[in-house]
This record gives sequence, structure tokens and C-alpha cells, in this order.
Amino acid sequence: MINFSKALLSDLGALMFPENCSICRTQLLGNEKHICINCQKTLDGNGVGTNLGRLIKNRLAGRIPIDHAISFLKFEKGGSVQRLLNSIKYKGNKDLAREVTLRLALKKQKALRKLDIDLILPVPLHFRKEKIRGFNQSRELALGISSVIRAPVGSQLKRVRFTQSQTKKSKAERWNNVENAFFAEDPKSIKGKKVLLIDDVFTTGATIEACGTELLKNGILTLSVVTLAVADH
Ligand SMILES: [Zn+2]
Repeated sequence: MINFSKALLSDLGALMFPENCSICRTQLLGNEKHICINCQKTLDGNGVGTNLGRLIKNRLAGRIPIDHAISFLKFEKGGSVQRLLNSIKYKGNKDLAREVTLRLALKKQKALRKLDIDLILPVPLHFRKEKIRGFNQSRELALGISSVIRAPVGSQLKRVRFTQSQTKKSKAERWNNVENAFFAEDPKSIKGKKVLLIDDVFTTGATIEACGTELLKNGILTLSVVTLAVADH
């Protein structure tokens, strides 16, 4: 009875405040949550048959040693992944971030379980930015992955500088922007650990390089990377 009333209330709520798909903006049907069935199908097919982790490893070759790399989605400008990320980041939709990242982590659970990881560290936002957004999307992804591979999520990695958005910057500008922006708090607790670094979008790799350099400097054993998406350029 309670469930029935709850369902009725939620249907009523949807009727009064119809929600739109976070990707294509069409009005959602009663059984859809955040993303319509068509966009979900597009997302489920995204990156299938492509080794997106290889793109990350190739782009970081000669810059920083990477043990394993996995990415869930391929990012294209103006594509559905960009629209999804905009809904998560700029509209502050934490519930959407949680659902999407958990679904993606489960989809890739086989590959994730093969990683040998002691500690998961999300790329941090500056605390001011996190306060504005209300959450860190990379941390949500880290939590989704943690529930699949049973390694803890730490917060030893901190951002010291309030960096500007990377989106409109060149490769060199991106590096200057993030170089020395991160530091490891309590370095003893990461020493000798096999660390998995988590970020939302991998583009030039400047952020991963900056974070990874700091972690390796503090004695971690291996560095692996998982990102929500990787840009194809
Ligand atoms: Zn849609």
C-alpha cells in the first residue's frame, strides 16, 4: 500500500513537474529517470569495441608511467556525452552523476576487477568549486568504482590552486594551469600503494600528469587511470 502510494505520488509529481532527459531534453516518460531510453541506448553503445584506455596510455607515453588505463565513454564536442557532463557539472545533478557512474562501473566490472588496486583517488576540485557545485563528479565515479572493486576511496589528493576551466585552453596553457596545482596530504598513507586515479574527461592528459607526478613523487607503487570519458583529439 505504501509502495503503491509512493508510486502514485511520484507519477503525480512527474505529471505536475515533468522532467526532461538530461541529454536530449525530451520529456521523460514515467518509467524513465534522468535519461530517456533512446539516449540510454546511445550511451550503452558508446565506446563499444574501441580500446579507449589505449588512447589514454598512448597520450601519456613518455610523460608518466601508467600501469592500466580504462575509459568508459568517447567524448565528442556537441555529442551526447558532452551534454550529459554539462547536466552533471553545471546543473549540479548529483543524483544523475551517481546513477550514470554506477551503471558505467557495473558495465565495465570485468575490466575493473582485473585491476590490482589498493586505493582509489579522485582528481579533486578546489574546495570553493566543490562548494558551489555541491559535489565532485570524479568522487562520485570513484565511489561507483569502489563498490565494484572493493578498494577504498581516499581524499589524500588536494587541489591547492583555484585553476581556471581547461576547456578553452591550448595544450601548453593547460599544463601551466595545472602544474603544481595538486599536493598529496598525509603522504605516508599512500606510500607503496597501487593507486587508481579517477577523472571525468581525459583530453591532453595535463591534469592526470600533474596529479600522477605528485603521487609518484610521494612513493606510490603503481599508477592506473580510469576516466568517465576520453576526448578523441
Ligand atoms: Zn534523451
